[in-house]
Amino acid sequence: AHLDRIAAVDEKVHAFLHVDTDGALGAAEAVDAKRAKGEELGPLAGVPLALKDIFTTEGVPTTVGSKILEGWIPPYDATLTKRLKHAGVVILGKTNMDEFAMGSSTENSAYGPTGNPWDLTRIPGGSGGGSAAALASFQAPLAIGTDTGGSIRQPAAVTGTVGVKPTYGGVSRYGMVAFSSSLDQGGPCARTVLDAALLHQTIAGHDPMDSTSIDAPVPPVVEAARNGDVRGLRVGVVKEFAGEGYQAGVMQRFTESVELLRELGAEVVEVSCPSFTYALAAYYVIAPSECSSNLARFDGLRYGLRVADDGTHSAEEVTALTREAGFGPEVKRRIMLGTYALSSGYYDAYYGSAQKVRTLITRDFQRAFGDVDVLVSPTTPTTAFPIGERADDPMAMYLADLCTIPANLAGNAAMSLPCGLAPEDGLPVGLQIIAPAMADDRLYRVGAAVE
Ligand code: GLN
Repeated sequence: AHLDRIAAVDEKVHAFLHVDTDGALGAAEAVDAKRAKGEELGPLAGVPLALKDIFTTEGVPTTVGSKILEGWIPPYDATLTKRLKHAGVVILGKTNMDEFAMGSSTENSAYGPTGNPWDLTRIPGGSGGGSAAALASFQAPLAIGTDTGGSIRQPAAVTGTVGVKPTYGGVSRYGMVAFSSSLDQGGPCARTVLDAALLHQTIAGHDPMDSTSIDAPVPPVVEAARNGDVRGLRVGVVKEFAGEGYQAGVMQRFTESVELLRELGAEVVEVSCPSFTYALAAYYVIAPSECSSNLARFDGLRYGLRVADDGTHSAEEVTALTREAGFGPEVKRRIMLGTYALSSGYYDAYYGSAQKVRTLITRDFQRAFGDVDVLVSPTTPTTAFPIGERADDPMAMYLADLCTIPANLAGNAAMSLPCGLAPEDGLPVGLQIIAPAMADDRLYRVGAAVE
């Protein structure tokens, strides 16, 4: 049924870069066969899923939204892919994304933009716009995203779906193409809080193949999503995430959600996190720095695209010409920014300062979580903007992640879930919940209460 739905609507939405019909039907049949034999199956066995094209899939193309990996067929599965398969989840295909997950609108994909199912002339968020659009257009009931600065939560907010960035280290990064390794985190996308929890439980947990993977039990996310009791819970409203630049309808729905939490028995207080004001600036030094280092591996020799391969060019020329042809403008911008910030003489002034700001942000969180159990804010300052509106203005595009970036810098867990439509444009608004590291279950408890 979902493959039929994809065939019927994805020409318009363009959520998928690759639909794996044979793989999906094969996986579904394998689950049926197990069921027929009376084998015990997990809660997601046979459930279809849309996978962001940043996770390697053995034998199935993985492009990361870039021409530089066009035609590359990975020889192995990411740990996350393996876990999904093991749970009997049916992977329908790979979803569109901003090239190397750099963007907030999916317009940076080398394969063309994705439309927001609420209004196809608007962006579905990014970088994981394909996964969010697949959910919102009912092409898949579950999806996977990755969140370096907001790429799970911001698309969830603007498409009226649920997206969770687990605690950094909660979900393995093995086989997830690296953008900014100290920030990147894979996580669940779904249409309900409970669906997201079931997917979270399936993909999370220690992986010896990822040295940053946390060796501790997965927080009880499913129990929390079934509980939803917020009585006595202390909720902090982040003071800095309001004011100029925030759309009136977004603030209205956010304020109503806070009111609802109060009615349900939570204790709401205002919290100040002064260093959050510098999060965006610190992020746009740290993320490009790590990206410039990580993307050095795309040398035209090891994988994917290779140009000027005619025997007349040196290896260095092949590398330079392949990178020139294979990377899009945003990726090049970040490689240049990062290379500059890391160059000797500038390293302390840029990268060093940004890392200090990161520490200050982490301390703001620590102070806040000494006082409250969770923090809340709007996920994004505005609803979905029109395709093309911010395409030539990187600074305006970067502002879409104003509220989501602090949780990445500190490694906290965070969720976005729908909290109504903005009255002025009828588009979805997202509520963001942030919890301390390894307290991901609190997101689901609060999410289930206000859903
Ligand atoms: N929009 C942010 C960026 O462009 C975040 C992207 C992400 O989370 N992958 O870097």
